[in-house]
Amino acid sequence: MSERLSSNDTVARLRETVAALHTELVRYNLVAWTSGNVSARVPGEDLMVIKPSGISYDDLRPDNMVVCDLDGVVVEGDLSPSSDTEAHAYVYRAMPDVGGVVHTHSGYATAWAACGESIPCYLTAQADEFGGEIPVGPFALIGGDDIGKGIVATLSGHRSPAVLMRNHGVFTIGPNAKAAVKAAVMCEDVARTAHLARALGRPLPIAAEDVDSLYARYQNVYGQTTVPSPRR
Ligand SMILES: [Zn+2]
Repeated sequence: MSERLSSNDTVARLRETVAALHTELVRYNLVAWTSGNVSARVPGEDLMVIKPSGISYDDLRPDNMVVCDLDGVVVEGDLSPSSDTEAHAYVYRAMPDVGGVVHTHSGYATAWAACGESIPCYLTAQADEFGGEIPVGPFALIGGDDIGKGIVATLSGHRSPAVLMRNHGVFTIGPNAKAAVKAAVMCEDVARTAHLARALGRPLPIAAEDVDSLYARYQNVYGQTTVPSPRR
């Protein structure tokens, strides 16, 4: 217990973060009923904070998030964790740099997953965020490690932080939970536009060297500088 006390503040902060990030899944229309989930790794601990199973999005609060170890066993919390906990836990065990995992059945991206088709890189915004295609992963039944294995096998060494698990839905990863949520939002946006482009005609894939330079620029240069210039 004393070991855990030192991380209590971190766990409390992550409970707030993970509960709040679930509202983003609703805001961006990525989830129906209680489907979808967000988790965050507790840095420096073999623990994660994840959504409880079967609770309405309106009722998600910091104090009903569930803390599990990286085998998916509940360490703290009265509710059962998300039914996708084993998949999240597998990803954290296999990918030490991953700090957040998100799962949704968002409509357009899951339609590509239903077709078993990766999303080719038709858009500069996709090159920026995903560095190329958004890959499709294998079919896997829920329960056990099969989904986790499929996510890790597909995303290891891949630039994309999103995988379309065949006949199922989207799993995204990130250095933290917010980044994984952003990847889930952008994945759905890309999937929607790619679908519309296919409906309209024949979308044009971006050349590989242009994808590379777009990705490098966005990942390294884009955005606000982290150190503000001094005020005079
Ligand atoms: Zn699912």
